[in-house]
Amino acid sequence: MNFKEIIRVIPDFPQPGISFKDITTLLNNGEAYRQAIDELKALVAHLKIDIIAGPEARGFVVGAPLAYALGVGFVPIRKSGKLPYETIEVGYDLEYGKDKLAVHTDAIKPGQNVLIADDLLATGGTIATSVSLIEQLGGKVVGAAFLIELVELAGRNKLTDIEVISLLNYE
Ligand code: IMP
Repeated sequence: MNFKEIIRVIPDFPQPGISFKDITTLLNNGEAYRQAIDELKALVAHLKIDIIAGPEARGFVVGAPLAYALGVGFVPIRKSGKLPYETIEVGYDLEYGKDKLAVHTDAIKPGQNVLIADDLLATGGTIATSVSLIEQLGGKVVGAAFLIELVELAGRNKLTDIEVISLLNYE
């Protein structure tokens, strides 16, 4: 299946110069969505994964179905102030903006092997922050899986200690 024909690209969103990869057109297509998750599942099959963590919001639409397919749990990583129980937080810079990410303190047990999932790897800031949260809880990040990698932004160079897996590369 040609996923690149299905994913819509929006020029100058959310600001001039950014070519936004809009995965809603993939999510909208049941056959393509399922195949994309199945292909990601095959790409991570060699990893020992106890649990998947995904940053809000598009990390949920990749991470949760992948967790279901693998039969493991899912941990939401959320923006500050959204999670109801006790959290730890880490601040980060985005490709366009600044924010804080949080996770429940009991979401990951020390020693668990964690796969991080998100829709897209850009500069790697979101995932580096997610790695820091998981490691603070004693988890071991065994890999990070994406539908899309924006190769020119070299996000994988920020993630040298973990295996970076992506379904599609964009220049
Ligand atoms: P990073 O932290 O710079 O790697 O940015 C990755 C985050 O920004 C992901 O959570 C994406 O959802 C979001 N993002 C950045 N660029 C795009 C894009 O072109 N399409 C969709 N999401 C994007």
